[in-house]
Amino acid sequence: MNDRVSPAPARKPDLILVGDRPAPLVDAFMRRITYLRLSVTDRCDLRCSYCMPERMTFLPKKEVLSLEELYDLATGFIARGVTKIRITGGEPLVRRDIIDLFSALGRRLGHGLEELTLTTNGTQLAAHAEALARAGVRRVNVSLDTRDRAKFAALTRRDSLPQVLEGIAAAKAAGLKVKLNAVALKGVNEQELPDLIAWGHAEGHDVTLIEVMPLGDVEEERLDQYLPLDAIRARLAERWTLTESDHRTGGPSTYVDIAETGGRLGFITPHTGNFCAGCNRLRVTATGQLYPCLGGGERVDLRAALRSDAPEARLSAALDEALRIKPEKHHFRMDERGAAPALARHMSMTGG
Ligand code: SAM
Ligand code: SF4
Repeated sequence: MNDRVSPAPARKPDLILVGDRPAPLVDAFMRRITYLRLSVTDRCDLRCSYCMPERMTFLPKKEVLSLEELYDLATGFIARGVTKIRITGGEPLVRRDIIDLFSALGRRLGHGLEELTLTTNGTQLAAHAEALARAGVRRVNVSLDTRDRAKFAALTRRDSLPQVLEGIAAAKAAGLKVKLNAVALKGVNEQELPDLIAWGHAEGHDVTLIEVMPLGDVEEERLDQYLPLDAIRARLAERWTLTESDHRTGGPSTYVDIAETGGRLGFITPHTGNFCAGCNRLRVTATGQLYPCLGGGERVDLRAALRSDAPEARLSAALDEALRIKPEKHHFRMDERGAAPALARHMSMTGG
């Protein structure tokens, strides 16, 4: 599917005001948007085989927004009622001086912004955990698909498991609440998932399992990677006592509590359980392209708005356009061998 680009309106628009404040972000399906996932780079120091090809081409640096532009952009979202920002990528912690952005956004906590978080592969977390905590970050998501060093090296094409485990330990020591995210992969971590969950819970971390999504070309056949989580959940229920949890994060996860481990397990199931009705988020790439849906080609160019002569008004108008075109749901399909990816862009591009 190709992107359908809606340019930010060229004329300086009037801001829609409610009282003396800009109108909150509500889309055509009456979903209130309060959550921004902001990608700060498309680059990464790993090459997870389900995420990108081994020889991934990254964007020229000049196309990527500066840290100042990323801050201004985030501020524009906060002005429109976004209360939670997750910094993602690519790998956000490989971007030089990224802590400056966390520190600047951290100063908005309590002033419109309620939560500042991060999704990371953990390789650089040991060096940054304390600075993140000082900036006001309280929770981090760390991607960990396997604790087997050889499997990790094969899956990510880098032998970095020790650094990741060190990063997770450093985050815990810095007082950050860690959630581990694992993509369930057929024949790769399928057998290991119970041990991964048990280990995470014993360490005090929540764990979430994710179904692989057909985003971007990778070397492997998507269908060979895909493991439906309803089957995994049934298998886990034979081993442990799972109780539906009413825990909600406003995100796509559904949760169970596991009596035996004392921990919480989330499931993100784009295929076996559509979650779009409760969608509360927008995503922006490192080049300032706003994708209202991870699984759609709709796009609004915020960089043009940011670099215009009336950035605040143009940005706000661009957000209204994004709300207008945000689709009701994604249309991922995972039932055809040899099918082209649902979308040409990789998850590392849009920001996972
Ligand atoms: N590099 C960071 C990391 O790995 O946590 C942040 C960006 S990464 C794109 C965010 C999340 O997307 C990771 O948890 C990763 O496992 C997941 N992901 C990447 N490609 C995916 C795909 N095709 N399907 C499902 N999840 C994917
Ligand atoms: Fe990098 Fe994250 Fe993609 Fe893995 S999932 S290649 S760590 S961006």
